[in-house]
Amino acid sequence: MFMEKFIAKKKFGQNFLTNSAIIDNIVNSANVNSDDLIIEIGPGKGALTSKLVKKGCQVLAFEIDTDTKPYLEQIASDNLSIIFGNFLDADLKEVLSNYQFNNLYIIANLPYYITTPIITKIIASEINPKQLTLMVQKEVADRFCAEPGNKEYGYFTVKLNYFFNIRKLCSVKRQYFSPQPNVDSAVVVFENKDYDKTLYKKFDELITKAFRMKRKTLKNNLGSDLFNKLLPELMNNGYGSDVRAEQINLETYIKLAKLL
Ligand code: SAM
Repeated sequence: MFMEKFIAKKKFGQNFLTNSAIIDNIVNSANVNSDDLIIEIGPGKGALTSKLVKKGCQVLAFEIDTDTKPYLEQIASDNLSIIFGNFLDADLKEVLSNYQFNNLYIIANLPYYITTPIITKIIASEINPKQLTLMVQKEVADRFCAEPGNKEYGYFTVKLNYFFNIRKLCSVKRQYFSPQPNVDSAVVVFENKDYDKTLYKKFDELITKAFRMKRKTLKNNLGSDLFNKLLPELMNNGYGSDVRAEQINLETYIKLAKLL
């Protein structure tokens, strides 16, 4: 079939993956069974999708750009459904109620301009994916995987690690995309973990306050009353009264949230 040359759209973050080893690495990161469901965000011209459908489980893709239709039609398959629309506008619980599946996986070479809103939406919609495999900008991957004390460690690091065990799968050079972006990338795997659902609201309130002003101490960010209430537990965990939010590990934040 004749197809006009596809002109990538910057406004949709279109940088298509061209390296087959990286594509295989991403696809193989999901150990799915035939009764599982994979959501792909932004299939584009189908570089990942064409391999995901071969895994045998159902694949549901959300793509904002209808110009990709001719490409995606070429990989049409009984186990592939495509919703053309903005993933951020989708009612995920409603959409998923039409599917029967065991575990949910999410895979995406993300449009970088909406990395944070997409991950925030996935968490907020409570669809509980077993695993996410996401291509993100290298610096963002470093932030997700940062350890306490590292300058990349921040509010979003602590928040994401509440829900997932996070690891970097591989680095991806900018040369492996077409068109080439201005940044290098990395693939990050998020595995779901047991977390206390009932504590999350307090936990989020605490870390929001704790990381309010980067340069300030925890005492300054929390205010004296709250800080003094938490100080004994902080000291039990080896932290002093001049501690800063970026030095405190997840386990300690969880213990502190239980005191609120
Ligand atoms: N998966 C393809 C690949 O790896 O070559 C394309 C990845 S490209 C970085 C991001 C894709 O997400 C594009 O196809 C773009 O049109 C799509 N996209 C951008 N914003 C979107 C949104 N809000 N909802 C759904 N898809 C979106």
